[in-house]
This record gives sequence, C-alpha cells and structure tokens, in this order.
Amino acid sequence: MLVVMRSDVAEEQVRAVIKEIERMGYRGIPMPGAERIAVCILGNKGPVDDTRLLTMDGVKETIPVTKPYKLVSRETRLGPTVITIGDISIGGGKVIIMAGPCAVESEHQALTIARCVKKCGAQVFRGGAFKPRTSPYSFQGLGEKGLKILEKVRQETGLLIITEATDHTSIELVEQYADIIQIGARNMQSFSLLRRAGQSPRPVMLKRGFAATIDELLMSAEYIMSEGNPRIILCERGIRTFSDTARNTLDLSAVLLIKEVSHLPVIVDPSHAAGRREFVIPLSKAAVAVGADGLLVEVHHDPLHALSDGAQSLYPEQLGQLMNEIDRLRDWPHR
Ligand code: PEP
Ligand code: MN
Repeated sequence: MLVVMRSDVAEEQVRAVIKEIERMGYRGIPMPGAERIAVCILGNKGPVDDTRLLTMDGVKETIPVTKPYKLVSRETRLGPTVITIGDISIGGGKVIIMAGPCAVESEHQALTIARCVKKCGAQVFRGGAFKPRTSPYSFQGLGEKGLKILEKVRQETGLLIITEATDHTSIELVEQYADIIQIGARNMQSFSLLRRAGQSPRPVMLKRGFAATIDELLMSAEYIMSEGNPRIILCERGIRTFSDTARNTLDLSAVLLIKEVSHLPVIVDPSHAAGRREFVIPLSKAAVAVGADGLLVEVHHDPLHALSDGAQSLYPEQLGQLMNEIDRLRDWPHR
C-alpha cells in the first residue's frame, strides 16, 4: 500500500506515519515524487488496515499496490527515475552509450579501446575484470589488476566506468573502482549479492537472466531497492528461445513492458543478444527506436584475438558508425 502525503506535509508528519507503519509491524519507505512524497508499506502479507493512517496529519489518501514488486513499480512512483552520475543522466531522455571490450585484457588493450570510445562520444567505458565464464578453463578476468587498469582509463579519458561484480568478494573491490556496478545475467537471482548491491553507494545495472520473466527481473530489482539503493538500471540482453538465428533472442517488447510497469531506466545490450557483430548496429537502432534509455555495446580493436566475445565485438570505427546512426534517430516522434 502507498500512503500519499499532502503536498504541504511537514517532515515530522512523514516520520510519524513511518513510525505508525512500524508499530503495525511493517516497514515504511519514503518515496519522494515530483509533486508530493508518499510512504510505501512493505512486509504486509495481506491487506493493510489503513483506518488509523487515514486520520493522521498530512495524509492525503492510501492507494493499494497490486504488483508483487512495490518500490520499482510505477504504482509507487509516477515519474521516471533519472540516475545522475557525474555529468550524465540515465533515464533523462538522452540515449547513453556504454561501450568497451567484454573483458579487460591488458592496459594497452583497455586504453586503446577507451580512446576510441571517448572519441566516438560514448559516455561510459565497459570492461569486465571479473568474468563469469561458462567454462572454468576460459579466461576469468584480471581481477583487481583489471580494476586498476579501469581506474587508469577513467583518469586518462574521463569516461565513467561500469564493470561486473560476480560475488561478495568482488563487489567489495568493484564498488571502490567503478561508477556503476554491473550484475550479470547469470547472477540476476543471486539474492544475497543483490542485497549486498542494495547496500552499496554505487548505482547498479541489473541484467536480465536469459530465462527470466520481466516479473522476475523486477523482483530482483526490488531486492536491491528494498536494501536502500534506488539507483538501478535494468538491462535487456537477449533471452534463450527455440530460435537459432542469433546467440540469444533480443526481447525488445521487454523494454516497452518494463517502461509500462516500472519507473526504472532500461538499457539494451545488443552484443550478447546478437553474438555476431553484423547484427549489433541494426539491433541497436531497433532498441533506440522502441525507447531504450541507452546501449551497452562490446567493442575491441583486435576482435580476432579477443580473450572473450570477439565475434560480437564491433571494430572501433563501427562504434563511430553506430553513434552516427543513433544520432539520426534522435528526432523520432516517440522518443
Ligand atoms: C558481459 O556484459 O560481458 C556479460 C557477461 O553479460 P551477460 O551477463 O549479459 O552474459
Ligand atoms: Mn561479453
């Protein structure tokens, strides 16, 4: 349930409502909105008796929340969430481009690619230092050494850094070095990692598991937000279907559905959906056309020798082409 406060409400009236909610045995989370603040009730198993709440000073009305996810739902926050990091805003109308290699392989590799990413006009550099690989014999990432390289990339280029945390140990390090913590598709339902990410001061990008429904994705985001971290970006990266046309099937309807039911920004990763670079630019354009708030794209200066995901990595000049083509979509009527 959402307790909507009057627009002229005083802080102590909000505090009193939260206290009353706690007395009833639930949690009350303030949800600031553009017009007025509301308090979201969490932890109730059935309907909440709102009789006393409705008599309290500053309370305008109560609204039942029908979705199983509460804090990430549009029912509890009308306007979109806009995540501001440094001088970029994600979810604020401009398409944000996060680009870089699948994995950080060396200082030379990361800096070479980062300079191109910067030159093309992207805002965020991606690159995994901790890689979740299907095979234990595949390259697992450089670990903290990779994070130190990312730090150098930030210093030299001014790009923001997104990199993946795969477990409790790596998240401790990742949050010290990165501007955005990535939680990968394979960890979308690692609930204790989600809770830990919810306690981080850093924004989190949560990727959709390849067999996860949108409800499941939003429930995972709810784990993060219910721990106190409201800065969450969702990422559609392709799901497993019977189709063998590409590595995964890019579910662009997911962008539309998420935007309908949630206030969180959504970005699209065409690289892991496609599996081959020829498909990446057309899929990126399609993602932007349906209203994605950004793209996460793999780029490599020498993809034939990349230690992971070379086949789906764009050449640097293709990133430039992608950015130009995205620019031309900017004036589409429904964007
Ligand atoms: C990645 O971004 O390199 C990655 C491993 O992605 P996903 O978790 O979507 O497979
Ligand atoms: Mn990859």
